Amino acid sequence: MLYSTNKRSPNVSFREAVLKGQASDKGLYIFDKIPLISNEEIFDFKSLNLKEIAFEILYQYLEEDFTEKILKNIINKALNFPIPTKLITDNNYICYLDKGPTCSFKDVGARMLASFMEYFLIEEDIKTIILTATSGDTGGAVAQAFHNKKNIEVIVLYPKDEISTLQRKQMTTLGDNITAIGINGKFDDCQRFAKNAFADSDLSQLNLTSANSINIGRLLPQAIYYFKSYSDIIEHKNEKVIFSVPSGNFGNLTGGLIAKRMGLPVKRFISAVNENDEFPSFLAKGYYEKVQPSRVCISNAMNVGHPSNLARLIELYNGHLDEEGNLLKNPDINEIRNDIISYSITDEITKETIIDFNNKFDILIDPHGAVGWAALLRYQNEFPTEEAIKSINFETADPAKFPEQIINLTHKHPKIPNSLEIIRQKKETQISLEIANYHDFKTFLQKNF
Ligand SMILES: *Cc1c(COP(=O)(O)O)cnc(C)c1O
Repeated sequence: MLYSTNKRSPNVSFREAVLKGQASDKGLYIFDKIPLISNEEIFDFKSLNLKEIAFEILYQYLEEDFTEKILKNIINKALNFPIPTKLITDNNYICYLDKGPTCSFKDVGARMLASFMEYFLIEEDIKTIILTATSGDTGGAVAQAFHNKKNIEVIVLYPKDEISTLQRKQMTTLGDNITAIGINGKFDDCQRFAKNAFADSDLSQLNLTSANSINIGRLLPQAIYYFKSYSDIIEHKNEKVIFSVPSGNFGNLTGGLIAKRMGLPVKRFISAVNENDEFPSFLAKGYYEKVQPSRVCISNAMNVGHPSNLARLIELYNGHLDEEGNLLKNPDINEIRNDIISYSITDEITKETIIDFNNKFDILIDPHGAVGWAALLRYQNEFPTEEAIKSINFETADPAKFPEQIINLTHKHPKIPNSLEIIRQKKETQISLEIANYHDFKTFLQKNF
């Protein structure tokens, strides 16, 4: 069962939680019990591949929702790309989460969610429309993940003049059940249109759903690669490791916290944020304040001034944060501080890290991964004895997605991965619609869906 962090709506099954996205009391769904995996079993994951580990973890939660065969089928289709972990130096590793179709870590959660949803919708014989607003990356991952899924239409709203050609093409070259709409405005306008549409009773028969990172179907699969990367590098049973996690909406980190509760031996999580420092400042001061408006940094997928998954994190430590960001009950802050240390990394340091990393290791990292690496170095500087502990650092996007920055800083041209090259060469099959106000958008929805 799952309950809402606001505790004012009924408990639901995984199926209901996936189909609803958010609870009606505006809280986030969270499992009432977290299954425990023994150290022996975790050590034995060393002999399993990614898909097998994914099954072992997910089946603990989803035994009642899927047969073994169906769950394996879903995993096989969704996780059809590798998640390798490579030694960089001494005890420090990078786990590459950027090998999916849109070269972003969001592919993991979005693809699993798409497959879960499709299965449930077919079973229930209902249709849904996924409406999502994007500032760039999420839209591509969602569009690619839901492309040709049955019983699902996808509408993505993006700020027409504020995203790169490649980002746009990830949404506009698919066709079929994917409709990409360029808005004459900013990301905030896209979000406002989506919000208005969800609340608009004239549109209720469209069965609109969101596919953002608050959906538990997207969050839970993000525990998988913590187990996978861990089992790739450890030598002893119960060996503890450090994870450095580039964080924006804190979905990635929350996946890790769930893995730890399931028994994964984690010494510490480093939550690496850019100049949006609401979380490290919360850990330091003990009270929470959003960063408003959010600060613009080069690690743009992390420009978040109030992380949507923070309510879950606070709940895991027995506190209550409501949807507006009010801390209604204090969590056990010392326990959080024990598990997580958080550093804010400036753009200047991020850029230096990209340059240094290339000079030292002859490897390019993207701005998000660089924030994570910089935070690891700060941690090891503060706690020198912990350099003896292995660390896993997530690379959350391919550097080729940020060519100008990378070329400017390193004078190297990042190699374009196959999946991006394919998208680059594709024709845009639908001219993006240009809609300037909510009324036009609503009329468009009513006419076409
Ligand atoms: C979304 C994203 C992040 C942040 O992940 P959260 O789960 O929102 O904390 C980091 N890097 C990249 C490339 C992303 O797309």
